[in-house]
Amino acid sequence: MSDRSAALPPLYRCPAGPPARPGPVRVALLGATGSIGRQTIDLARRFPDRLRIVAATAATRDEELAELLAGLAAAAPDAPPPRIALTDDAARVRAAARPGWRARLLSPGGTGLCEAAAWPEADVVVNAVVGAAGLAPTLAAVARGTCIALANKESLVVGGDLVRAAAAASGAVLLPVDSEHSAIAQCLAGRAVDEIESLTLTASGGALRDWPAERLREASLADVLRHPTWNMGPKVTVDSATLMNKGLEVIEAHHLFGVPYADIGVVVHPGSLVHSLVTFRDGAVMAQLGAPDMRVPLLYALAGERHWPLATERLDLVRIGTLRFAAPDPVRFPCLALARRAAEAGGRAPIVLNAANEIAVAGLLAGRLGFPEIAVVIERTLAAIPGGPVDGLEEALAVDQEARRIAAAGAA
Ligand code: NAD
Ligand code: MG
Repeated sequence: MSDRSAALPPLYRCPAGPPARPGPVRVALLGATGSIGRQTIDLARRFPDRLRIVAATAATRDEELAELLAGLAAAAPDAPPPRIALTDDAARVRAAARPGWRARLLSPGGTGLCEAAAWPEADVVVNAVVGAAGLAPTLAAVARGTCIALANKESLVVGGDLVRAAAAASGAVLLPVDSEHSAIAQCLAGRAVDEIESLTLTASGGALRDWPAERLREASLADVLRHPTWNMGPKVTVDSATLMNKGLEVIEAHHLFGVPYADIGVVVHPGSLVHSLVTFRDGAVMAQLGAPDMRVPLLYALAGERHWPLATERLDLVRIGTLRFAAPDPVRFPCLALARRAAEAGGRAPIVLNAANEIAVAGLLAGRLGFPEIAVVIERTLAAIPGGPVDGLEEALAVDQEARRIAAAGAA
């Protein structure tokens, strides 16, 4: 076990969760139109007396947001309509023309997103924005000292130290939504993080898990997006196929639980039934299992780390028979090792890693880049930008922009 004398406390503290108060848990939902956002709304519709959306944000899809909010209103007709932020200017102009919306709109652009994140009536902020754009609202919610159900792992990859320092000052609590990190929280179930010896994150292996190296070049976008077990947004689905998702999750686990990188392992587990494992200091191992359904970790966070009744698929162990595990293949999937190297280097490197990955994934989704080129773009961008410490959000965002420029030139 490695030295645990970390300068900053972990983000996850147990027991945690929204403060107990009468009435429903009031939720500010960032990224309402995405995969996690829609599942949050699904849960709010299932629990109209226990969950209430008080603010909702989206980037461009105002029409879809309107449909989602209409569904919510039908499930809880007495609830006041939520405040709304649309970060895209054209979407905000369209939204302002909807009956009853103008007065509910928060500020334009990223300011409105941060206003929603710091919304004074919210007990919990669900950050389900994708990418580094999630960092500023995470910091806004942390500054308010509120409880954050964090799906946006990129916040911690880009600004883990900033978020930890801010949370130590404000007392904000972060509850993981990512299934692996929720599994770890569920395994801890009230135990202190200093009882942990090591963490093992499971990985489905992604859509190309069984493809031979020489065929990866031929993978089409449809092949990459055909995830074997989870139905998620496009970026995280591509990240799963490259194993970058697991690299980002190693960094996320480090900041959430304060465990050194050397003590965070990864195994490929094709069934996605064991969501992650904790080895304690006496050799006892706890694992959390369940059918792959993101509403389970999401509801666990929203419920303040309790198990509310939810009709999900139940595990039939006899039918499953065997659980398979394998080591990740560093040759076919080099992104995991790139992420580990950047994580160990710290400072600028994880910011560059994330920015280059976002550009490369966007290139693949736009049909400009082949699957193996994602790792090449990231490696070249990391090599082009000198390492070093990062002093504050402004510098982190400047490094992010510089990395995007260099990666875009390499991914053109
Ligand atoms: P998604 O692409 O389906 O949705 C993203 C949401 O963020 C949308 O509502 C979009 O409008 C909004 N958004 C996008 N760019 C934005 C920007 N620049 N500014 C403001 N808002 C913006 O993504 P997703 O799959 O729901 O993933 C969200 C986050 O959760 C990611 O960090 C992902 O890694 C993480 N996560 C997702 C899943 C899953 O099952 N989808 C599982 C684990 C973790
Ligand atoms: Mg995950």
